[in-house]
Order: sequence, then C-alpha cells, then structure tokens
Amino acid sequence: MIYADNAATTKMSSRAIETMVSLMKETFGNPSSLYTIGQRAKEVLEQARKDVAEVIGADPREILFTSGGSEADNQAIISAAKIGEKKGKKHIISSAFEHHAVLHTLEKLKKEGYEITLLDVHEDGLVRPEELEAAIREDTCLVTIMYANNEIGTIQPIREIGAICRKHGVLFHTDAVQAIAHVPVNVVDDNIDLLSSSAHKFHGPKGVGFLYAKKGVLLSNLIEGGAQERGKRAGTENVPGIAAMAAALKEAAEHLEENSEKLKKRRDQLIAGLREIPHSALNGDETKRLPGNVNFCFEGIEGESLLLLLDDKRISASSGSACTSGSLDPSHVLLAIGRVHDVAHGSLRLSLGEDVTEEQIHEIIQSVKEVVEYLRSFSPIWRDLMAGKKPFIL
Ligand SMILES: *Cc1c(COP(=O)(O)O)cnc(C)c1O
Repeated sequence: MIYADNAATTKMSSRAIETMVSLMKETFGNPSSLYTIGQRAKEVLEQARKDVAEVIGADPREILFTSGGSEADNQAIISAAKIGEKKGKKHIISSAFEHHAVLHTLEKLKKEGYEITLLDVHEDGLVRPEELEAAIREDTCLVTIMYANNEIGTIQPIREIGAICRKHGVLFHTDAVQAIAHVPVNVVDDNIDLLSSSAHKFHGPKGVGFLYAKKGVLLSNLIEGGAQERGKRAGTENVPGIAAMAAALKEAAEHLEENSEKLKKRRDQLIAGLREIPHSALNGDETKRLPGNVNFCFEGIEGESLLLLLDDKRISASSGSACTSGSLDPSHVLLAIGRVHDVAHGSLRLSLGEDVTEEQIHEIIQSVKEVVEYLRSFSPIWRDLMAGKKPFIL
C-alpha cells in the first residue's frame, strides 16, 4: 500500500500514540481538579502548551487548544471581525482558494453585513502582496490568507503579507494547517497575529488543534461554559490528544530540515515522471510548494475514476473534484488558478509522507501512466480532442 494522501490526514507517529495511550491509562484526571491526579494532568497540559509555543516562536499564553483546524479558523476570523466591528470596521480581505473552514465563515459574516474582498490567485497559485496592499481600506479589520494551500501546496509570501498588514494596522490571520511541521513557521518573524493549526496533518491525533493569538488580540468564544483555556474555550481539555499533538509537533520540528530535503527530492522525481504524460500540467508553482505536494491535471479524464483505479493498485491519492460534497463542481482551488472546468475535473493530488521510498515513487509514476492511458482509451472527450474536434488546452 502506498499512502499518498497526507494532505487529507496523516498516520499518527508511534511517539504520539504512546504519549496518548500512557496518558489515557495513567493521567486521566480533570486538569481543573485540585487533587494530585488532576494537577498532574494540568502539568501535562501546560507542558504541551510550552512545547507547541516554542516550535512556532510564541509565548505559551498565546496558545489556545481547539478541536482542530476548522474550529481555530472559525474562532480566529470571528474574533477579528468582532474586534473590527467595535471600531466600525467591517471589511475583510482573503483569497479565492482558502479552505472552506475560512470561506464558509466569511460567507456567514457577509450575511451579517461584513464586506469581503477575495483576492485573485494567479496561475502559479500565489497571492500577490502588492494586490493585497492595494485592497486594504480604511475600514479593513482583517486579512486572512492561508500559509500553504491544501490542494496545490503553494506556499504564500506570508512574511511580506504580514509586514503589509502591520504597516496598515490590520490584523493578519493565516490558516497554517498545511504548513506547520512541514515548513519553518515563526509567528514573530512572519508578522502573524492569528494562526490556525491541526494535529492530524502532522502525525498527531484527529480532533485536536491550536489557535495562536498574539498577546492583546481579544478572542471571542465559540463555546461557552467553564473557564478552561483562559475562559476562551469551554470544555474539559482533551489532555491525551493535546499532549500527543505536542509530541508529534516536537518530533516533526526536530526532523523538519532532513525530512523536507528528502521529500523535495522525491516530489521532484514524481513531477518529472508525471510530466512525461502527454497533455498534462503541474498545478501551482514548481518550487514555492510544500515539500510533499504534487498536483496534476490530465486532459480528457475524470479525477474520480483516476483515483478509484489507483486505489485498485493500492495507491491512496485524492482528486481535486469536490466529490465529498456530492457536487459535480470541480475544485474551487483549481478554478481559482484559472483551470477551465473540463481540465479541472481531471486532477490528481499526491501528498507524500516522509517515509516514501524511491521505489514507491517509480511505482506511482508507472501506475498513473497506465491508468491515465486506460481512461483516455474510452473517454469521449479524449476521442474528440484526438480527432481535432476540440482544441487541446494542455
Ligand atoms: C485540514 C485542513 C483544515 C481543517 O482542519 P481540521 O482539523 O480537519 O478541522 C483547515 N485548513 C486547511 C488548510 C486544512 O488542510
């Protein structure tokens, strides 16, 4: 089996599993309880907060644990919107290819009277800082731009964007779910005010994440109740999950450079191999992308059929099409970078894990070549293209 869908979720690391199990067995106390086993859980929780903060250059008091990336995105954006509203500022800038956790939160705010500007994402999958600066207005309260895109893997010029926001006194949030533990992120150097992260994208457990909020940025609650998380997120803390997240993050941070170098090499081998397929194209900038992300469009085929046939060959990958939502619309990310519907439908995302071998890369290339050729052999669109009835786009 080759698991090449690490952007969807990752396998937990042994260290994270061991941390989680040992806490579930032995340190099951409620961190709010005053007796020893409760206080022991509290210590574990606060150590995890320190560990997470250290990796991203934050103060532990700036870390809030959440149920994952979606919750962190929601809370960050809603908090910034409320801060803006108090000052009479109700304009938010984002980009067209954000994760739905961001886009759907913005749609909700739009119904509440906020004005949303979605910046264009260019063909290379990158937002232009100068276009962002031009979009900032007197009443702009928030800029939210993702660190790295989950489909095409492109890494945005976050430091520059952050600097522009600072200059104009606008809060800057980044959905860094795909970036944390995969590329170096430092909230101070990168001028970030709010940042979202999720454990299951870096070999931690599902259902755990964190929100970084720079000191002085007042958070609004999504969940009311007890006084956990400095009163900003009620509910008994998921101590085993949080500690496992911290363990996975520390482990990833320790090996970040070596993993990244190795992955880039494999990624580039895979890109070179898939480029040999006629009428194909890489989506997103070739170098400004996550070390393990490869995303291609193949003309004349359907992404879903492609990934199901790859599954038969025991390769787990993903297609950009929004099959999860039951809709036939192609990926909003591929449309945002200017791929036309027909082409966007034939997309494939391969997100590699750190343990991928060179042999596996060759196997993926071989399998994708076979499957694309097979699907094209009975595709009516391909027949029309070959007969010259329709022009090739790629
Ligand atoms: C996975 C993902 C999320 C959602 O995180 P969950 O922990 O699954 O809620 C948000 N943004 C991006 C970019 C993601 O890749």
